[in-house]
Amino acid sequence: MATGDHLYDCYKPPAQEFVRGEGAYLYTEDGDKYLDFIAGIAVNGLGHAHPELVQAVKDQSEKLWHLSNMFRIQGQYELAEKYCNYLGWPGKVFFTNSGAEAVECAMKTARRYHYDMGDPERYEIITFTGAFHGRTFGTINAGGNPKYLKGFGPAIPGFTHLPFEELSNLEDHLSDKTAAVMFEPVQGEGGLRPVDIDTLIKVRNQCTENGMLLIYDEVQCGAGRTGKLFAHEWAEGKADPDIMAAAKGIGGGFPLGACIAREEVAKVMVPGTHGSTYGGNPMAMAVGNKAFDLLSDEDFLANVVKTSNFLKQQFEGLKDEFPDVVDELRGKGLLIGMRLKKAALDIRKNALSKGLLCGSAGDNVLRMAPPLIINENHVREAIAVLRECFEEARNLPDFEG
Ligand SMILES: *Cc1c(COP(=O)(O)O)cnc(C)c1O
Repeated sequence: MATGDHLYDCYKPPAQEFVRGEGAYLYTEDGDKYLDFIAGIAVNGLGHAHPELVQAVKDQSEKLWHLSNMFRIQGQYELAEKYCNYLGWPGKVFFTNSGAEAVECAMKTARRYHYDMGDPERYEIITFTGAFHGRTFGTINAGGNPKYLKGFGPAIPGFTHLPFEELSNLEDHLSDKTAAVMFEPVQGEGGLRPVDIDTLIKVRNQCTENGMLLIYDEVQCGAGRTGKLFAHEWAEGKADPDIMAAAKGIGGGFPLGACIAREEVAKVMVPGTHGSTYGGNPMAMAVGNKAFDLLSDEDFLANVVKTSNFLKQQFEGLKDEFPDVVDELRGKGLLIGMRLKKAALDIRKNALSKGLLCGSAGDNVLRMAPPLIINENHVREAIAVLRECFEEARNLPDFEG
């Protein structure tokens, strides 16, 4: 058996090795079964080995894998049309392979827009503490997390980082250099903090009044995670973005991202301004189209809301039962978790040893992003494991930052 010695040591995976998945479960070579409540970090929204996604990959793989964007890719035309029709405003899409690339495209589009409008000095992008926008040079500088920037040279200028709470006081921080405001409608890595609807609407209006662009990073909170295809839809059309980055769940496990922008903004990105070899290749489009059809289904999304309400109710029960372990509930929909008083990483490890996969996030948060196909029985199974873990954590020392 090969070891990981010849890999970069950027990750430290546990001993369990999963070789197969089905629905909400993962299996090791020995057949041990685990309940997956993190779904590859909010990626496998449709569960593992969804038969319709499997079929889409099989069918496409026998026809055509890759062409490059030098040639027409009908699957891109279809999927872009689906997304824009769904969102209900005139838009254009650029397909990428990842979330970071979708964010890069969003930031380039925003700057180029002001440049083309005769305002090249308007390049500043405002972001917020706890943000996560990816791991490329551009996106670590956008996110501004010192841990991710350390050792990677001088900070790239053109970003203003504000405390998360200042989202509701944006007026104090604008200048004639401000090009765009970018944030996650529900922060993922930063600790599952949702932005409330009133703030979304306020920021939208401020952007419109001041000629700034509103960029949503819906890489984690989109793709049906909160019970809407995109989290900002909870504002019912009152806080639509100018540009949005999506990825993770929209490919159901196949690498796929998208930058979706208003037509009048997107049209500045003319031939020569941007590109990608793989972005939106026929394989990704086959899966992306099928995933869109399944994720955007009204009954499917209604079920996400129902299951997430049940999960939240169960979490509230745990919080009441273990006030010495659970500090605060966090998140929205099936991007949900709790800030703990005991070390979240230890509890996550213990849960894994009992057959439950969870994640963690900034702020000592135990993070869950289960496949969106889960039902109440899966929730009960997860809660039973968490209850055992919390019971065992009760007597541990409190977490100290
Ligand atoms: C994961 C994530 C990214 C980066 O996506 P990659 O596919 O890892 O490049 C960007 N923004 C948010 C909100 C994310 O959660």
